Amino acid sequence: MSKNFDVVVIGGGPGGYIAAIRAAQLGFNTACIDEWKNDKGGPAPGGTCTNVGCIPSKALLQSSEHFEHAGHAFGDHGITLKDLAIDVPKMLARKASVVKQNNDGILYLFKKNKISFLHGRGSFVKAVDGGYEIKVAGAAEESLVAKQVIVATGSNARVLPGAPFDEEKILSNDGALRIGGVPQKLGVIGSGVVDWNWARSGAASARR
Ligand SMILES: Cc1cc2nc3c(=O)[nH]c(=O)nc-3n(C[C@H](O)[C@H](O)[C@H](O)COP(=O)(O)OP(=O)(O)OC[C@H]3O[C@@H](n4cnc5c(N)ncnc54)[C@H](O)[C@@H]3O)c2cc1C
Repeated sequence: MSKNFDVVVIGGGPGGYIAAIRAAQLGFNTACIDEWKNDKGGPAPGGTCTNVGCIPSKALLQSSEHFEHAGHAFGDHGITLKDLAIDVPKMLARKASVVKQNNDGILYLFKKNKISFLHGRGSFVKAVDGGYEIKVAGAAEESLVAKQVIVATGSNARVLPGAPFDEEKILSNDGALRIGGVPQKLGVIGSGVVDWNWARSGAASARR
């Protein structure tokens, strides 16, 4: 049997989860569907921003800035450190825990605002009387009927012709968050907010 909602939001990134929270706060019976999985296959709401974008990049940027300060700025304050080194696996583990805190925070906000969260892929089935039937394909298959649907499914990194992402030499923003060591040379194509983040973080870590 289908479950009925006033509003169903497909996508739980910053666009979707905030829309869902606002709809619930305005008194609409709301559900949010998101398919992002964490390493264990569990839900990881928050979309690109939380999982492979703003949050993890700032977590790494903060680590590389600490390193840069320790190596370059502390000396001016009369503080000297010997044997300064980066432990990249530890840096990545900290980043992962920051991401998880944010995933958990969004799940808490869903609960607090009485939003039904469904972990899986949402798709339109058909228009029905008074709304739309939405299928959720995931751990459990669900069928929902929504009077209104908000599509907030985000975007994907664009592959350049002839240079597909192998996440080793040619990295998307996702693979760039998982490099196992500090690259001594890094070419960045593009100069928007995403690319600028990487250029800054990479330069700070590689400078010695
Ligand atoms: C490295 C990097 C750094 C960034 N830094 C910043 C920053 O500092 N400040 C800033 O403002 N922005 C930053 N951004 C941009 C920001 O991440 C995006 O603007 C934001 O995530 C877009 O939000 P969204 O909700 O539209 O889409 P997304 O965050 O992409 O979320 C879409 C969600 O929908 C889900 N989804 C898609 N299709 C379906 C489906 N059919 N069923 C169920 N779920 C589905 C996806 O799994 C995803 O969870 C950064 C991005 C990157 C990559």
